[in-house]
Amino acid sequence: MAIATVNPATGQTLRTFEPYSAAAVEERLVRAEQAFAQYRLTDFARRGQLMHRAAELLDADRATIARLMTTEMGKTLTAARAEAAKCAKAMRWYADRAPALLADEHPAPVDVTDAGASRALVRYRPLGVVLAVMPWNFPLWQVIRFAAPALMAGNVGLLKHASNVPQTALYLEDLFRGAGFPEGCFQTLLISSAAVADVLRDPRVAAATLTGSEGAGRSVASVAGDEVKKTVLELGGSDPFVVLPSADIAEAARIAVTARVQNNGQSCIAAKRFIVHEQVYDEFRTAFVERIAALRIGDPMQESTDIGPLATAQGRDDLGELVADAQALGARVECQVEVPAELGEGWWYPPTVLSGITGRMRIHREEAFGPVAALYRAESLDHALELANDSPFGLSSNVWTTEPEEQERFVRDIQAGAVYFNGMTASHPALPFGGVRRSGYGRELSGHGIREFCNATTVWIA
Ligand code: NAP
Repeated sequence: MAIATVNPATGQTLRTFEPYSAAAVEERLVRAEQAFAQYRLTDFARRGQLMHRAAELLDADRATIARLMTTEMGKTLTAARAEAAKCAKAMRWYADRAPALLADEHPAPVDVTDAGASRALVRYRPLGVVLAVMPWNFPLWQVIRFAAPALMAGNVGLLKHASNVPQTALYLEDLFRGAGFPEGCFQTLLISSAAVADVLRDPRVAAATLTGSEGAGRSVASVAGDEVKKTVLELGGSDPFVVLPSADIAEAARIAVTARVQNNGQSCIAAKRFIVHEQVYDEFRTAFVERIAALRIGDPMQESTDIGPLATAQGRDDLGELVADAQALGARVECQVEVPAELGEGWWYPPTVLSGITGRMRIHREEAFGPVAALYRAESLDHALELANDSPFGLSSNVWTTEPEEQERFVRDIQAGAVYFNGMTASHPALPFGGVRRSGYGRELSGHGIREFCNATTVWIA
């Protein structure tokens, strides 16, 4: 993919960038290594000051960076502003809490005596230069949720962002530099995905984190495995949204719409499979379809728009193929919103609800990365759980029930990195984020996230 800003609402190419030469990448690797040698010696107080300053700058830039994100990948301006605000909040969260999250751990005295020590502790030390390969769907948030903890832990970052958000990628480098982080602490590499392996193999790079598709994850993890380097993978998802009879059905249907179409439907944790108990299926379907049918597709810069274009032409075509496959195999279209003719060029995809999904349809096993909902009728709680787990993915899950035993059943048996009851999945700095199965491994955010790129060093004193 060319490194370029192409406005998804018009299809117009606005800016193109030459990928960095090998010499330019080398320069940045040298800088990153030199930066780490000094930066790792700074204390939490200093890092926290810098991170707070970066959060202030981001707040001040919110309107501009939000417009840039909308221009580069088509999310609504309202969503882009909220994303920028959330990033500043996470930066402050880590700036204030890193000292506690990474404080020395002291095992109980009796245990260390048994290990032959008079004293023992665990010190969390940074790993070094961490390469972050990131996707375009939350172009600021995906990067910040890596960068804030990584920098607070004393690591330095190299960002390979998605090729369609180069200006946001360059903004991020400017943001950290402008906040006073030493030169080389956070750098953007404008490179193609084919150039990632060489950077990752470089001995100056200690570890990598990737958020993106399964294919990209596999490729980065296999290189990292070959080099014996730590990785965190946040991959795709096809999260279930299970509705059981005790739920408030009107509220479940209202939240289900947001859970599906947030970010124009392009979120890894968007609910994609709606599994509804037969006792409340008709009630839920009617309310859900009514709300989907009322969504307004349009210019993402307008406040009145609910859904903008998809980020890429390829993404729109892939989604269309998933829907066509399901229809060919007998799925019913419960509703499909009309795309207004005046929108013209641009990668619009109409919000769609499909029902009658079977295991033979691709949409049952693959991720629908856009505003398409797959509706299932479940005969019982066991059946709902079985359908929820019948996916190669296991990122998050949403379950609507007020019955404590039913909740406990899902906590015990759902194959996912999270389960949200009577609400929708949303990331927050305090909560670990990540999946199982083909959704990847490792965790971002919370104390778990900040420790992923730390060397938990055992200190033993006789
Ligand atoms: P993608 O193609 O995998 O791209 C993600 C990043 O990986 C981009 O920077 C891309 O660079 C790079 N990349 C692609 N192939 C690569 C390879 N073989 N080696 C190294 N780097 C490679 O993903 P996408 O389709 O744009 O993004 C959507 C996917 O991300 C969805 O599956 C979604 O669920 C997932 N996602 C997951 C999470 C999570 O937290 N679990 C969050 C958001 C999105 P180029 O742009 O240059 O190709």
